[in-house]
Amino acid sequence: MDTPDPYCATPARPEPGPVAAGERFADCVLCGKATEYPASHPGVTLCPVCEWQEDQRGACSG
Ligand SMILES: [Zn+2]
Repeated sequence: MDTPDPYCATPARPEPGPVAAGERFADCVLCGKATEYPASHPGVTLCPVCEWQEDQRGACSG
């Protein structure tokens, strides 16, 4: 049972890049809180909480 089920695999998420000094963090698109991502981060930015919730929702629900 050491083969991960591809059905349940969570897609790799790009790591947040280093935030330059003085650069503001992007706001979470869901709740508006500050994220770990720089404002220049491409694509959707989620705060750790919403990111976790999205992971839960995308996880295999059996
Ligand atoms: Zn959020």
